[in-house]
Amino acid sequence: MTSGLDTLDCMTTGAYHRGDGHTPNSGNARLRAIVAVDGKDRVRCQQPGCGHSVYAAVHVVEEDGKLMVLGSTCFAQRYGSHAALGQAQYGGGGGRKLTDEERQLLIQNTEALLAQFEAQASADAEASALAEAQVHADEALRKQQIVDKLLALRAAYAERKAVIPGMTALPSSPWPWQMERSSVALFTAPDGAHWVRVQHKDRSQKLAPWPQFPGWESALPSGIGRADASIGAIAVDNIADAIQVLRQLGFLGPEVGRWQDVLPRRVAHPTGART
Ligand SMILES: [Zn+2]
Repeated sequence: MTSGLDTLDCMTTGAYHRGDGHTPNSGNARLRAIVAVDGKDRVRCQQPGCGHSVYAAVHVVEEDGKLMVLGSTCFAQRYGSHAALGQAQYGGGGGRKLTDEERQLLIQNTEALLAQFEAQASADAEASALAEAQVHADEALRKQQIVDKLLALRAAYAERKAVIPGMTALPSSPWPWQMERSSVALFTAPDGAHWVRVQHKDRSQKLAPWPQFPGWESALPSGIGRADASIGAIAVDNIADAIQVLRQLGFLGPEVGRWQDVLPRRVAHPTGART
């Protein structure tokens, strides 16, 4: 596109360049910038003997401390190739199109333009350093949040671990002799007293008063079983017969379940007043 004209300009003058005494010399040359201007604002190529105007891929070269604006073809001819001086310090490819102000500087004070480029570059570098610092800060914050979360989880877990052994201790049966994980059956006497069928670890069945009350030992018909004070319950010979008797006496129930489920409900909501 635009570089066609630029190339043409310098190509037509290539013959002059070879005869002007300049030989390819990249020893003391630095490619400071590659810029572009509007086609209507072309700038003059400073290759001796060229004098054509260029607007795309305008090469700004510093050679022996002197700044020079060259078309890309003159640049290649002067230094041997387009890539002879490596990457431009500022800009690249076809070059960033200059603002009007920058174009004025390119013509009148190339040095000032390069100083402006440098200021821009260091401002950009500072901005990206700031952006990077912000990214790092965000990252650090995110990491801290993750660490906080992990610590909270760990604390919660430790708390839970502390609670679990407590919970296995807490729900131990009111009857230490109860067979583990066995269900209980709650019966309610006509007077409101609660009796709980509890299976002993030895697999025998007991009827325990809940809560225990004075005279519990003789509160049930003796035919059901005998009171065992050591366990605080009636040792029942035949639980099926015993339940039959309780029903005949007007007991309500059974309510069967884990004692944790059955008892608190009853204690919290007694079904009757004891006299
Ligand atoms: Zn030229």
